Amino acid sequence: MAKLLVFCIDALCASDVEYMRTLPNFGWMLNKGALVEKINPVFPALTYCCHTSILTGNYINRHGIVHNEMLTRFGGSGAPWYSMKRDIKSKTLLDEARDQGLTTCSLSWPVSGGADYDMNMPMIVPYRYTGYEPEKWLEGTATQGLIDRYFYKHGRYLKGPNRSLDLFTMAMALDILEDYDQPDVMLVKMCDLDSVRHAYGVNDQRTLHQLRKHDEELGAIMECLRRKGTFDETNFVVLGDHGQTDITDRLFMNVLLKQNGFLQTDEDGKVTSFDVFCHSSELTAMIELRDPRDTELRTRVRAFLENLRDDDKIQLNLIMDAAEAEERYGLVGPFDFVIESALPIAFGEEADGDTIWASEKPGFRFGAATHGGNPEREEVTTFFACGPSVKNTVLIGSRPMVDLAPTMAQMLGFSMKDIDGKPIEEILR
Ligand SMILES: [Zn+2]
Repeated sequence: MAKLLVFCIDALCASDVEYMRTLPNFGWMLNKGALVEKINPVFPALTYCCHTSILTGNYINRHGIVHNEMLTRFGGSGAPWYSMKRDIKSKTLLDEARDQGLTTCSLSWPVSGGADYDMNMPMIVPYRYTGYEPEKWLEGTATQGLIDRYFYKHGRYLKGPNRSLDLFTMAMALDILEDYDQPDVMLVKMCDLDSVRHAYGVNDQRTLHQLRKHDEELGAIMECLRRKGTFDETNFVVLGDHGQTDITDRLFMNVLLKQNGFLQTDEDGKVTSFDVFCHSSELTAMIELRDPRDTELRTRVRAFLENLRDDDKIQLNLIMDAAEAEERYGLVGPFDFVIESALPIAFGEEADGDTIWASEKPGFRFGAATHGGNPEREEVTTFFACGPSVKNTVLIGSRPMVDLAPTMAQMLGFSMKDIDGKPIEEILR
């Protein structure tokens, strides 16, 4: 049975394929293998939700990862992230592969802390951590053998202000492939394209340099497998988790709610009580009522949101209640409404001050682009593959992200049962 190597690029956009064709390794795959032009992320298109759907073949109502951060009713903002695999309510591709007797390896995949894969190095050190003890997050959540064997050598990439998860991931990926038999399934997840897009914009020139870097990284893995002698029996997959959208401003919805008497803060701007709270999902937001059974409050909030449809600067064009969010997008969580603007604005969660727009707040920085939106509107991601189980073909149009796990399972010779997605048979041999 052929092996599977998944190279995941955070924030890979469907529109990147044109440039990727000109690069040596992505270009080779696109020339020889199969491309599914567009993959629609799940809603909201946030990294942790999408990565979990890629691996489970399920929408959020069945896998349970509703956001990057753990949203709990009345929890407010600043919650811990969904780092642990045990929070996923359905089986992953790697769980199923293990049940089939296959060996599994996952490097820097979100929501994988403590996963009992044969080799696991989770994405778990907090995004903004710049200290010198990253191992405190890895102890007990990563495979001890990987820490013992490689941390002394590559841990330095995870430390200090210039730390780079991608350098760490790549160093470990190449060592594992040299030191061990190639795992039957191996996930290698890269982050930096997402960071470049957030900082500079979706189509900034720097994204091309970053794609080139990712091409070099994939090239190093491919060369490693050529030398190992397993290249020809490996199915290579390149995929992304979501696209990104350039934003023009950031709206502090909780300040607006405060101005309308729905939420209260202390002098420091910390939320002290609320009837209504906005959890930001970047391009969308989830609105939580303190008491969802309070029909009078619900009616008032609905009317308040409906009014924002006509506000020239805000232009909410999507206002869904919880039942509609589940029906349309398989989205279930601790919210009562989901909102999105017709404009490219993101939602901020801050509640301090009286300014509702980031651009009017002195000293406040916001990125050039983000994601988290509605897949019917935002730029989506893509998927291409090459190897013994894959045809040479191009599939025009879009497929849902939940189809990826069952498609990759087929490449490994088994099927995933009772999930939302189905295999993309057109690209498989
Ligand atoms: Zn992402």
